[in-house]
Amino acid sequence: MQKHSNFKDFTLITPTASISNDQYGGRAKCLQRLIRLDMPVPKTVALSFAAVHAIAAGQLPDIAGMMAPFGKFPLVSVRPSSQDPDWGGPGAILNIGMNNALYDILCNKIGHGAASRLYLRFIQSYAVHVARLDAEAFEFPEKSNSDAAQLALAAYEDETYEPFPQDPNQQLAEVLRSMARAWEGTSARLLRQAKGAPADAGLGLVVQQMALGLGAGESGSGVIQFADATTGLAKIAGRYLSQSQGRDALSAGSKAIYITKDKRGPSLEDLTPAAFEELITCGHKCRQRLREEMQVEFTIENGNLHILDAVRLPRSSRAAVRIAVDLAEDNIISTQDAILRIEPSALNELLHRQVDDTAIRDCIGHGIAASPGAASGKLVFSAADAQACAAREEPCILVRRETTPEDIRGMHAAQGVLTERGGMTSHAAVIGRGLGLPCIVGATDIKLNTRTKTLIGSDGRLFQEGDILTIDGTRGQVLAGAPQMVEAGLDDSFQKLLGWADTYRDIGVRANADTPADAQTARNFAAEGIGLCRTEHMFFETDRLIVMREMIFADRPQDRRASLERLLPMQRADFVQLFDIMQGMPVCIRLFDPPLHEFLPSSREGLRELAEALDLPMSDVTARVEEMSEFNPMLGMRGVRLGITVPEIYDMQARAIFEATVEASKGGQAIVPEIMIPLVTAKREVELVKTRIDAVAAAVRTELGASFDYRLGVMVETPRAALRAADIAQHSAFLSFGTNDLTQMTYGLSRDDAGRFMAAYVQQGVYPEDPFHVMDLDGVGELLEIGASRGRSVKPDIVLSICGEHGGTPASIDFCRKAGYDYVSCSPFRVPVARLAAAQLAL
Ligand code: PEP
Ligand code: MG
Repeated sequence: MQKHSNFKDFTLITPTASISNDQYGGRAKCLQRLIRLDMPVPKTVALSFAAVHAIAAGQLPDIAGMMAPFGKFPLVSVRPSSQDPDWGGPGAILNIGMNNALYDILCNKIGHGAASRLYLRFIQSYAVHVARLDAEAFEFPEKSNSDAAQLALAAYEDETYEPFPQDPNQQLAEVLRSMARAWEGTSARLLRQAKGAPADAGLGLVVQQMALGLGAGESGSGVIQFADATTGLAKIAGRYLSQSQGRDALSAGSKAIYITKDKRGPSLEDLTPAAFEELITCGHKCRQRLREEMQVEFTIENGNLHILDAVRLPRSSRAAVRIAVDLAEDNIISTQDAILRIEPSALNELLHRQVDDTAIRDCIGHGIAASPGAASGKLVFSAADAQACAAREEPCILVRRETTPEDIRGMHAAQGVLTERGGMTSHAAVIGRGLGLPCIVGATDIKLNTRTKTLIGSDGRLFQEGDILTIDGTRGQVLAGAPQMVEAGLDDSFQKLLGWADTYRDIGVRANADTPADAQTARNFAAEGIGLCRTEHMFFETDRLIVMREMIFADRPQDRRASLERLLPMQRADFVQLFDIMQGMPVCIRLFDPPLHEFLPSSREGLRELAEALDLPMSDVTARVEEMSEFNPMLGMRGVRLGITVPEIYDMQARAIFEATVEASKGGQAIVPEIMIPLVTAKREVELVKTRIDAVAAAVRTELGASFDYRLGVMVETPRAALRAADIAQHSAFLSFGTNDLTQMTYGLSRDDAGRFMAAYVQQGVYPEDPFHVMDLDGVGELLEIGASRGRSVKPDIVLSICGEHGGTPASIDFCRKAGYDYVSCSPFRVPVARLAAAQLAL
């Protein structure tokens, strides 16, 4: 190490010293606050990021000056002080300054045993963390404690061929150097970058006078907190251990005692009521003045309390919400602060069951975390088996290569879904999120054999039908067995926080809801309407699927109409229910979108059943199904193309919507349905559909003697629709950007197949993220901006929204706010996240 230069970037922490978070780190700043609150904090010197950086580079600060405040025989600790405490840092080192001279003094003062333990602890930490020696060489049996320090000194000399350093200044210099270097090491940097720290994040260090915790009178150390880390409810908890230092009490098991009086055993409150009272007062002050729930580390030295440190109480997401709301309700922080303190995605933990953080994870596969939450159940390989499980009330996990609309009933019956293929907007992912069902897609490291009903995990283990698996859709992990779970935790504090968020938010949040159950969920989460009802999902109920298939198989328009007439009352009833549930809020219904063959069976068994139901020879059915298949179905006969070539379907849907409007409006306020045309590419498509829908509306008005309005809009899902938005807007009351198809078509990437290579693409930096997961603000975003401005140029009051799967993410909400959109629409379970994110962006 070089001789020290002139820098003096360290300072004794006093109430008036100039100490900022970004120069000295969070711990130093927090200690200053505690000192300002008159808490009994031992003398502390703070080293700045610049000082620590210089030390790592080989410079030596003025160690003697740094040690000066600690007297003739200094005894100090060093702790890290990074800018954000969550970024971590090297572990604390205690008892720096212990040497033979101080040992002799302490033997007289606190006894031989206690002095030896202090010395031993320091030699051990120094040997392992500074001299980088093997820990085993410094472990001695408990009973030999009194001479353990001497044994450790000898071991040190044996290992290094040098005596243990006796000069406190040298000891401190070496400790500082090793901590500074550890922070700059690659693994520490990667670890903190994973927690969001910038690559050049600085480390400060604090050097603090030791409060002994060992020796005469009541001496010991402990940790106290004032709220429960899991629930956030007010509750004093912690541990205390006599004759100990640092955080020893937390790892001492039954040797440590409780903090408050407790039926289960002795407590600090019984042992030393005065110190206990003082601690409670400190805790109260911390909450009031630091405006946070803190965890406080303390030492009692011969009956006197010392507060060594306070950190933000580590907490679950659920506790974070409760704590923020309680602090706001106690007028300690503002409601805005409470809103800003919660990471929106953390709400997922409250909305869904999760694998317990402490549970052991036996991971057998990975995939895209398509729908959050966790579920365990028996492995099944078909929708029919999932339904059979549900009938027996056995939880199950449905595993498919990929799901198709045929699997929808199986998905409803299962507790979780796993697919080998697919991406963020594939069928399983969209339905999973809609249902709030944990789902992993694109799990390419598992191997599935649906014929033998087996699954081989990434480590080669074989699983059979009926084996228990767990889907962690939050992390995208497939786990063997059923680890411990934490239940969803929606409580009054969650509702309160979101209620506050709504008062600040300046962009609407609607839900994508296809069924009455979805609509109810959307309402429970206070969505401001339905932004996308994918009507095709209504046709997968068993009784409807048969009629739907009849309709598809009809050769003549009159036969098709006959089938559609049977579907009409079912659709009408669906819409009446949606309108009733939404109680006058806007409901945007998208006309039929998918290719018709999605409603046809793909398996031989399914084809046979269909032949039976339609009373047709199997060969006819097979031929017809083959005839309908397309090379690129997502770019084929779907959306408005169906509406134009098979117009009877849209006619029926429009009639169902209008008849339901009249029916539901009888109950109270007039309902104005929104009807949306999918996959538009040209103005003429809109004109053709609009003409027919207007005609249906006129017919229904006459037939029922009722009057009603409706709003017709277009889904902008093709690049051409975005580019030609000025034409299209002429006939549209609103434009809703379907970013799933728009991403697919902008990139020319199949939303169902991209999962196969997306990981490789992201890994090699071709795309920064999966664009089906994180909206591509540059490319797709530009189309969103072009579409919005061209649409508005001809119709300034046109309503703009997005309804693809990106709708609920903070980044896309930010983008939409800036582009002047009116609302975003997302899966019901994402509505709370979107409400909170939108409020944070507005604050
Ligand atoms: C979209 O394409 O963004 C959309 C919402 O429609 P779907 O996912 O049903 O194709
Ligand atoms: Mg679409």
